[in-house]
Formats: sequence, structure tokens, C-alpha cells
Amino acid sequence: TSAQIGVTGLAVMGSNLARNFARNGYTVAVHNRSAAKTHALVEEHGHEGDFIAAETAKDFVQALERPRRLVVMVKAGGPTDAVIEEFAPLLEPGDMIIDGGNAHFADTRRREAALREQGILFVGAGISGGEEGALNGPSIMPGGPAESYDSLGPMLEKISAKAADGAPCVTHVGPDGAGHFVKMVHNGIEYADMQLIGEAYQLLRDVAGYSPAQIAEIFRTWNTGRLDSYLIEITAEVLAHVDAATGKPFVDVVVDQAEQKGTGRWTVQIALDLGVPVSGIAEAVFARSLSGHAALRDASRSLAGPKAAPLSAAEAGAFADRVEQALYASKIVSYTQGFHEIDAARAEYDWDIDLGKVASIWRGGCIIRAAFLDRIRAAYDARPDLPSLLSDETFAQEIAAAQDDWREVIVAATRQGVPTPGFAAALAYYDALRAERLPAALTQGQRDFFGAHTYRRVDREGSFHTLWGGDRSEVEA
Ligand code: NDP
Repeated sequence: TSAQIGVTGLAVMGSNLARNFARNGYTVAVHNRSAAKTHALVEEHGHEGDFIAAETAKDFVQALERPRRLVVMVKAGGPTDAVIEEFAPLLEPGDMIIDGGNAHFADTRRREAALREQGILFVGAGISGGEEGALNGPSIMPGGPAESYDSLGPMLEKISAKAADGAPCVTHVGPDGAGHFVKMVHNGIEYADMQLIGEAYQLLRDVAGYSPAQIAEIFRTWNTGRLDSYLIEITAEVLAHVDAATGKPFVDVVVDQAEQKGTGRWTVQIALDLGVPVSGIAEAVFARSLSGHAALRDASRSLAGPKAAPLSAAEAGAFADRVEQALYASKIVSYTQGFHEIDAARAEYDWDIDLGKVASIWRGGCIIRAAFLDRIRAAYDARPDLPSLLSDETFAQEIAAAQDDWREVIVAATRQGVPTPGFAAALAYYDALRAERLPAALTQGQRDFFGAHTYRRVDREGSFHTLWGGDRSEVEA
């Protein structure tokens, strides 16, 4: 017998993905650098489906039916290159290597180009949903040559999560690095979502005076409305959890220094290169890094803060409603920014990415899955050339309805000295886009003054320079 798919790299993600394929009726060849993991998988889960355990790379490749479909689930970076170097010489034209790790999209572009020379189809596939998703249905974002999707697509559709309407949460995203790019932005949006939720929590606690258990209840209520999402759901779970050792709220015994693995940072780095303002995502990444500067925070604890009194119990409920509005409006802005980044990459790399499809495959399986994504999909389906999510009439109306509360919440946060970089950056983005005139005109004047960088005029075509050091007359540049 031969296997329809193979998985190499059998840590938590790889083994769960292999089991997912097997449970869906596929014969799966499994391989790991150290064979112990391969045997452990087959021993523990062999009864779930048909596995072929392979000890060597050669056995693994020979176990696969042609064209071969070989999923690599190893540590991203050097290990992925090492595995490709090991397997590529054993493959034949038309075979596929599917990298399901969290690769940087530039690495995926490089690998795709190199393997194309050999006639191997390289599919960089973003996979989201953590270990639970890998086992029961992740959101999958495959890129690479379109022809790879002919035979691979139906298999991925089978093992993927399904949205509420039954649609599989996978699509061919676009050529070479497009899949990993979209996965990267997914993670950037995830950072922003988590930061906004964190700010909402802090405000409910420090300004409104609620306990973690009460805030868990508030999040549970929010989760029945337009904020309905996986992250809001697990936030309620985490806030309601009590530490067994101390009897304190779990959130109070965890060190408040957030870690990160890098995909959020990449989202911001690439956005800087592409010139896309993803200020909300950037604030989320910076907020994590600030939290980790323990010595700096210790040295700063005695800095002066405001002397405003917290809200009375009577005012707390209305304030919580306002925080919901601020959270929702800020969330619309972070998704607007994330989709702008994908749109910019589409132009930069000539990727034919369907933004509505992207929203559609994020509706299930992945960490940012949310009812809200159905609305984004609808917005792009109605108008594929939508310049920005904020140009969608429904979102624009919702923000219009939320904005007074949004502003009030930021005012309250400022008065009480509670940092809300995510809420504030989102509002600043919104107000900047709305503005009739921006101080960028002054910036251009300053640049022309000190560096003769020239400026354009509102009333005439061309580039101009003012002779600042001379008689201040204007010349055409
Ligand atoms: P790890 O990232 O911890 O990687 C461990 C696996 O990589 C093991 O199978 C290990 O083999 C193999 N490996 C490491 N170095 C090499 C090498 N030089 N040559 C061959 N194999 C090597 O595993 P995860 O399951 O957590 O993640 C796999 C991939 O999926 C990563 O790219 C990760 O970023 C991505 N991912 C992870 C998610 C998660 O929630 N964990 C979510 C989405 C994506 P050995 O057993 O022999 O050491």
C-alpha cells in the first residue's frame, strides 16, 4: 500500500495534523528526524487510521503515491531548509513539498523559486489553530503554484475547519509566499485583538472597579453579540479561573510580561517596508515588549500619575457598555489595517489574493475566528475593490455610532492614567483618515526648509522649492 500524504516532523503540530489526515480516511506516511516520535505516534494513535511509519527519508519518500505530497512540520528557519535539502534530491518533478510551519514569507519565496528549478511544487501553507486546530480542523492558508491545489486542495478542505455555513476554511491564497504572508498578517491581527481585549479588561478593572470574575461575566455577555469570537470566549475562561494554590484570580498570579515568537513583529517590519500604517498592530507588539522591560518598569513605578477618582458603582455599568463600543470600533480599525497590508503585498508581489476569501477562511479553525469575519467577507464580496474596510457603509455606520463612547473611554483612560495604546492608536488612525487637512503640509514645509526636499502645491501641478535662505521666493524644482 502507498500513502496519499506524508508528514515529517512529528512534534505536537505534525502528529496532530497526521492524525487529522488519518481520521479523514487518508493513508498517512509519518516520519521524524528521531524515530522515537514516529513509533510513539503509531503506538498511541495507530488505531485512528492508516499510518505507515518510516524510519529513513528514503523509506518515507517511497511510501508516498505519486505525485508525492510531503508535509513538513518542523521548527521554522534552518530546520526547514535542512529537511528540504534532505528530501528534495529524493523527489521527482510534479511532487509537492508543503511547508506547514510558521515560515517567513521571504524564505518561502526563495524556497519556491529554488524547488521550481527542479520541477518540485513548493507550497508554503500557513496553518492556524494551535494543536487543537491541527487535530480537529485548522484554518489553512496554502500558497505556491496554483496547480498544486488541484490534488492537494480537496485533501486540505477535508481536514480543515468548516465555517458556520459549512464552507472549508482553506483556499489557494496565491503564488509563492502569499500563504505564509497571509498567515503572518493573521498573527499580527491576533496580537492587536489580544491587546485591545487586554485594554478593555484593564479599564473594567481599574476604572470601573470590577473583579476578574465580574469581568469574565461581562466578556461572556459580549460574546453573545457582535464581538462573538474565540479570543473573547477564552478571555472569559482565563479571567474566571482561580489559582488552586493561592485561591487568587489566576490572572493575578501570572507575571505580567508578555512573550512573543515573532510573527507579530514581522507583520510590523514588513508593513514599514511596504509603507502601510498598521499602527494598532505595532502598538500591540510594542506593548508586549514594554511589559517585558522589568528593570525599566521597576525604576519608573514612582513616576507621578493623575489623581482622578475611579467611577462609582452606579456609573460602572454604563462605562462597561462604552468599553464594548470602543473595543468594537478599535477592532474594525485593526482589521482594516491588516487587510490593507495584504492588499499592499498583493500589489508589490503581483499576488492575486482575494481579500473576501481570506476573511472567509478565517471564520473557523484559527485563533482570530469570529462572527465579525463574515461581515468582512460580505463587504469584500459586495465590492472587491473596496479601498478600505472603513469605506464599507455598514462598518462606517457602526463606527459612527460607536465613536462618542470610544472617545469617552479614551478620555476616561487618560484621566485615570490607564494606558490604552491600542484604543488610542485606532482612534488616531480613524481621525487621521477622516481629516480634511493633515499637518503633513507643515512637515513638507520643514523638509523643504532644511533639506530642499521640495513640495507639491494644492493649486498647481509640479514640484516646488522656496528659497528659504534667500528672498523666500518660490522656484519650480
Ligand atoms: P517545533 O517547532 O517545536 O519543532 C519540533 C520538530 O522539528 C520536531 O519534530 C523536531 O524533530 C523537528 N526538527 C527540529 N530541527 C530539525 C532539523 N534540523 N531537522 C529535522 N527535523 C528537525 O514543533 P511544533 O509542532 O510546535 O511546530 C511545528 C511548526 O508549526 C513550527 O514551524 C511552528 O512555528 C508551526 N506552528 C506551530 C503552532 C503551535 O501552536 N505550536 C501553530 C501553528 C504553526 P526531533 O523530534 O528529531 O527533534
